[in-house]
Amino acid sequence: MIIRSPLPDIDIPKVDILTYLFPDGQPVSNEPVWYDAANPSKHLSPRELLLWVKRLGLGLDRLGVKQGDIVMLYSPNNIFVPVAYLGIVGSCRAFSAANPIYTVAEVTHQLKNTGAVCILAHPTMVNNAVKAAKAAGLPRDRIFQFDDQPCEPLDGVRDWREIMASPRDAEGYQWKRLRGEESVDTVATINYSSGTTGLPKGVCVSHHNLIANVAQTMNIRWPTLDLNSNQKIQGERWIGFLPLYHAYGQLYVNLMATKTNVPVYVMKQFVYSDFLRYIQEYKITHLQVAPPILVMLTKRPESKDYNLSSLKGMLCGAAPLSKELQNTVQRQFNVEVKQGWGMTEVTCGSILQREASDSGTVGELIANTECKLLDDDGKEVGYDTPGEMYIRAPNVCLGYFKNEAATKDSIDPEGWLKTGDVAVVNKQGLFWIVDRKKELIKVNALQVAPAELEAVLLQHDDIADAAVVGITLNNEEWPRAYVALKDHAKGNLTAKDIQQWMKPMVAKHKQLVGGIAFVDEVPKLASGKIQRKVMREWAKRDAPGI
Ligand code: AMP
Repeated sequence: MIIRSPLPDIDIPKVDILTYLFPDGQPVSNEPVWYDAANPSKHLSPRELLLWVKRLGLGLDRLGVKQGDIVMLYSPNNIFVPVAYLGIVGSCRAFSAANPIYTVAEVTHQLKNTGAVCILAHPTMVNNAVKAAKAAGLPRDRIFQFDDQPCEPLDGVRDWREIMASPRDAEGYQWKRLRGEESVDTVATINYSSGTTGLPKGVCVSHHNLIANVAQTMNIRWPTLDLNSNQKIQGERWIGFLPLYHAYGQLYVNLMATKTNVPVYVMKQFVYSDFLRYIQEYKITHLQVAPPILVMLTKRPESKDYNLSSLKGMLCGAAPLSKELQNTVQRQFNVEVKQGWGMTEVTCGSILQREASDSGTVGELIANTECKLLDDDGKEVGYDTPGEMYIRAPNVCLGYFKNEAATKDSIDPEGWLKTGDVAVVNKQGLFWIVDRKKELIKVNALQVAPAELEAVLLQHDDIADAAVVGITLNNEEWPRAYVALKDHAKGNLTAKDIQQWMKPMVAKHKQLVGGIAFVDEVPKLASGKIQRKVMREWAKRDAPGI
């Protein structure tokens, strides 16, 4: 059975993202949209943003960065991230951002994998960027400091403003207009995801994918909106704390805010008490969150110290949310909490709640979307029966960067994307996510790929084999390793030793907080593949004792 969105199809223009966000002939607002939450006198309007975007686009032309080249951002959030994002994408380069807490090895991997020709690195990350660039063979003069204020050269690394064309030159800059299939084929962003299996891979999202997902999301969120004009959404104020290297933050802060002119207070760093204070001070009306924020709202004592009564609604996605927690927040804060389901491979989201509910549903398919659910034998199931979700829609990505095999495994010739998530749908078209079949672990709503941690563990001289799996403790997931030691190390190497050794190797959210258990052997199939199902059972078995 194929389930179709209950919403009528919408028209998705086949143009480039800048033409979509700034349609010819329509006024570009000069009212601030992006505010620095810590210092709101620093702000940018769409008109200012567009000029900066043109300055960067022309500047990259002059630097010799070719169309189709990849430019990497390695920075925490600030109000200039939308400039970097749209300057790169809008001038037909591809944007790829690294998590600012990545280690040198992790950034090096992403640099090598993308072949990025330039890095924009926050001053606090220049040191790491220089080391990663060296390891990846990228010349130092291709690293630029990226901040929301001018920077002095650091270790010979110049300010990104030095690449920028002058405002005068940039005024008349004509970005490349994409039409028809060019919009469908041109890669705009490369975010990283491990998909259903293996190592993190670059997800190629096109201009058309971005436009589709913005239009689909606006359509379900504001059903009466004319999607072809830039109408300001009145009365909403958002906080931009979601990381802008992730698809979720990018869709809302970089794209939807530009299209709707909703003011967004950008946080450089997430500090919970600041977050609460900003909601109170700026009378924030709507939040885009992940489940850990709802946990904080209900559990942390500071939540009571602030007046959060301006909040009207929250969208929660990126990881499983229990209906109990959703309902507690709805009651306690008198807000509508709506869930959504998404995945980097669908640009951002595909299922959203239209109506508030206390049933734990993640909602309905957004416009222009089809879904089928398959059982373990690959047979389509009907209503009220769990099955793995396959999605076909204009926001499904082009595939994985330079990885045809992984692309073929994930998207079939008919365009169906294998999600690795198990869902149930009822006759009204409402979905519930009931399980996850893929290897992925979500820590604090961020991706952790078991295969990546296994590869790191195998670098240890005393480790013969290792398997990593997610373990659920107090409603949160953590990576847990099952490790087989080499004979000489048995009884000598402790779990703590390995955890200490891992510390500098991978970012904080990938640490083995779920513990390490020693085993004689990692269960494998005849093909040599780890028996993931067994690992999941082991993790379930071990959870109560940890
Ligand atoms: P990412 O690509 O980082 O956005 O992660 C996508 C994955 O997060 C999905 O495939 C799901 O496993 C999980 N996920 C996202 N939204 C939800 C949700 N509402 N409920 C359960 N899992 C979710």
